[in-house]
Amino acid sequence: MNGPLLKVENLTKHYPLGAGLLKRTIPVVRAVEDVSFSVEAGETLCIVGESGCGKSTVARLLMRLTDPTGGRVLIDGTDIAGLTKYELRAYRRRMQMVFQDPYSSLNPRLTAGQIITEPVENFERLSRKQRQAFATEFLQKVGMSPHMKDRFPSELSGGQRQRLGIARALALNPSLIIADEAVSALDVSVQAQILNLLMDLQQQMGIAFVFISHDLGVVEHIGHRVAIMYLGRIVELAPCEALFAKPIHPYTEALIAAAPVPDPTRARLEVPIEGEVPSPINPPSGCAFHPRCPIAVERCRLEVPPLVSMADGRVVACHMRAPATDASPQALAVVPPLPSVAEPQPSS
Ligand code: ADP
Ligand code: MG
Repeated sequence: MNGPLLKVENLTKHYPLGAGLLKRTIPVVRAVEDVSFSVEAGETLCIVGESGCGKSTVARLLMRLTDPTGGRVLIDGTDIAGLTKYELRAYRRRMQMVFQDPYSSLNPRLTAGQIITEPVENFERLSRKQRQAFATEFLQKVGMSPHMKDRFPSELSGGQRQRLGIARALALNPSLIIADEAVSALDVSVQAQILNLLMDLQQQMGIAFVFISHDLGVVEHIGHRVAIMYLGRIVELAPCEALFAKPIHPYTEALIAAAPVPDPTRARLEVPIEGEVPSPINPPSGCAFHPRCPIAVERCRLEVPPLVSMADGRVVACHMRAPATDASPQALAVVPPLPSVAEPQPSS
């Protein structure tokens, strides 16, 4: 297949707040603003940002659990907005979700074995023997004993429940798994086990992941690329190694500084992150990060910085660190081009 597995173009989601019958303008929550990225087959793209910045809304848009206000989601080049009910079913089989709280997403009245086989049986009939084999296979894939198949979710530990949630997703043989805060509720040691499991599964089965977390520290070892979101927008998207080695956006820098550093050889950046994420109902003008940014200037208050492509394959939206030039065509629509030194002067 040519092109990326998943492509997101200028995705936007505004939630209207109530019906402002007499008001001319209804206030809206700007949950997601003009988000674009792609995910290759077998790749892990991490989406990181503080709570409320629109990560789960992106996940819901990818699954078409909610419709976008603007932009589109393409799977193998096909816009999912145009899928028939039947095609959408097949699409949802290829895209599976793993949630933060497996307890609330696992039916408490089903055994582990039934939880694994039930979604499969929505698509195909299984004999009793096949059902047993399926449950055994996928429990083992996620490092659980086949004996666990008769346990109910309430009889499992938090880590085991999360493994079961992953087994349920895997059983449908998806091309892509969206994991929304999948390890955030777990103890650090269990977190590491689940992250290792996901990486092993990716190697074995070639599954792509969209891995969502509010904690930048968690994604360092599993991500191929990382998208940093702030108030609905991607502010930096970079290969994982490059991002951690040299964050460019001041928000990325602040997130790295705030994350616990397990590696003592790496210097902590002394960038304080102050204040709270502003409301997406009335986001700050210009660059939404400017009220918290240590290097903001007047321009940051006035103009939304465009995403500018950098030499190392990353994109950054920051007037100070990634100034738009004539060379970045996306920039032109938003910011007037800076005077270019290289511009040939017409001779008189
Ligand atoms: P995150 O997952 O990064 O914490 P969310 O995508 O859940 O962020 O939310 C982004 C913003 O959209 C938040 O301000 C949230 O309150 C708002 N929001 C999410 N879902 C709805 C909804 N159904 N109606 C109105 N506002 C919503
Ligand atoms: Mg969320």
